[in-house]
Amino acid sequence: MHIPEEKISEILNTSDIVDVISESVILKKAGTNYFGLCPFHSEKTPSFSVNPGKQIFHCFGCSAGGNVLSYLIKYHGISFPEAVKMAARKYNIEIDNSTVNPSVKKELEIKEGLFRINQTVMGYYHDFLKKSQQAESARNYLNKRRISEDIIQEFKLGFSPESWDTIVRFFKKNKVSNKNATQSGLVLERKQKQGLYDRFRNRIIFPIFDINMQVAGFGGRVMDDGMPKYLNSPETPVYFKGRILYGLHMAKQFCRQQGFVYIVEGYFDFLSLYQQGIKNVVASLGTALTSDHVRVLKGYATKMVLVFDSDTAGISAAKRSIKIFLQEGVDIRILVLPDGNDPDSYVVTHGREAFIELASNAKTVMQFLLKVSIDTHGFSVEGRIKILEDMKQHLILIQDSALRSLHVKDLAETLKIDEKAVLEKVKEYYLDNSVSILDYCKREGNKLESDRREEQIISMMLNYPETISLIKSRDVTKYFYSEKLKHIAMKILSIDPDNNAFITCVMAKMENPEDQELLASYAIDDFFSEQDIHQTALSLINRIIRVRVKQENTLTNRIISAEKGCDSELIELLRKKQKEIQQLHNR
Ligand SMILES: [Zn+2]
Repeated sequence: MHIPEEKISEILNTSDIVDVISESVILKKAGTNYFGLCPFHSEKTPSFSVNPGKQIFHCFGCSAGGNVLSYLIKYHGISFPEAVKMAARKYNIEIDNSTVNPSVKKELEIKEGLFRINQTVMGYYHDFLKKSQQAESARNYLNKRRISEDIIQEFKLGFSPESWDTIVRFFKKNKVSNKNATQSGLVLERKQKQGLYDRFRNRIIFPIFDINMQVAGFGGRVMDDGMPKYLNSPETPVYFKGRILYGLHMAKQFCRQQGFVYIVEGYFDFLSLYQQGIKNVVASLGTALTSDHVRVLKGYATKMVLVFDSDTAGISAAKRSIKIFLQEGVDIRILVLPDGNDPDSYVVTHGREAFIELASNAKTVMQFLLKVSIDTHGFSVEGRIKILEDMKQHLILIQDSALRSLHVKDLAETLKIDEKAVLEKVKEYYLDNSVSILDYCKREGNKLESDRREEQIISMMLNYPETISLIKSRDVTKYFYSEKLKHIAMKILSIDPDNNAFITCVMAKMENPEDQELLASYAIDDFFSEQDIHQTALSLINRIIRVRVKQENTLTNRIISAEKGCDSELIELLRKKQKEIQQLHNR
């Protein structure tokens, strides 16, 4: 990496990891650590911890971990230099681009270029809407839909004229290359002839911001019954459909305040609610909700209300989304609006209070699914069996077993089927589908005893740098079996333990994300508290050395007996092993 090391140290020493992470995760203090719901795996109870003293994070659930830069890389899906720049921007630290290596620099420039293009085109469309004669119909349309001037301003709505080359010409005038132009998704290449044409024509334009307030893409909506009703930017190096939610850049503070978020489908649904003062809202923009969406949202609100139209499309969209929310362990409610309404029309007709009242009675997922299933199958004997078949697949997704058994009981009562029979059905289904969970448990149980002791030494060095001189003098890392842990230990030993920012320095020495994760997991918790740390260190060191020496002796004895039995293959193997170990000692 070609960003100067002093710059990285400056960033690591200036930034505060709690400050940075709490922008995207709700953190609560407990003891010396902060805890929150992990943005990297699905969970209901917080196992994601941040330690301000050590400036590291670690998830006890999925083992994600590292320093402030590793967090930014993982959370935003960006490269190391981008993370450095992001942190530098936040703390007003100057970074000189010329030192970054050429390929990374190019990638950075592409992204920065696209953001810049989007920003200027947003300005162009916005001005066009406000000033052009040709945009009169658009202004009337927004007026008819009761979108206020303030909202148009705040969300920088715009209008793309009825023309094939407005943006093509705009790009030409501003000297944007054809390559950058097509990469932005704002213009497309003509199939037959050479040349480009505008993607958005005669549409209301909604700029789509990412949570860092940068324009990532655009959505366009027709003003009549034309098709397609909505058109969005394609995926570009700065626009990821599976991650960006419309309006979150403005709504995030209100989601934090209210503790919950409304999820609606369309731009106008969002804008109407927001305009009515219901500002804890985001729009999914017709794309299917992904677990990434849900994890991003979890950083701002733990409760979510999915708002859908009562038509069949709305119902099936709700059903599709539910699985994701259940798997992510989110407290989710489903609000299906009364017949013929969408959130926009409802709040415009009935007002803010009525909407909030309606939403407060939103159904739980199981109530919603049960109602849909009953509406579909009816309540005959066959119908009720079909309902049970439907519901069992939803029930196994509930991770909390107590909650699941309550739902089983409810379902049994509603269907008038014996509770035991319902439970049996659910169990059957669960067993058929839980092979992967078993595999996972097996994998986790496989940690070696030697690894555990070696890990303890590392954790000790990180939490009690005063033991490092002892560990060094006994040269215990030489006896480590795990090459990976030995590598990490050597790095730790290369840092001055008297350094105030000891762990920050060690973390900065780790080259790859896996090593950072490991290091954070050993550093986050102090396993040795309230013990005589020197005594503990000494006995741990002795144990590691004793076990290793004993195993080597056993090996030598086995070679001797293999020689007696003339098992040449085994002798060869054992000798090789012995050589390895000798090499280790002779270093
Ligand atoms: Zn996690």
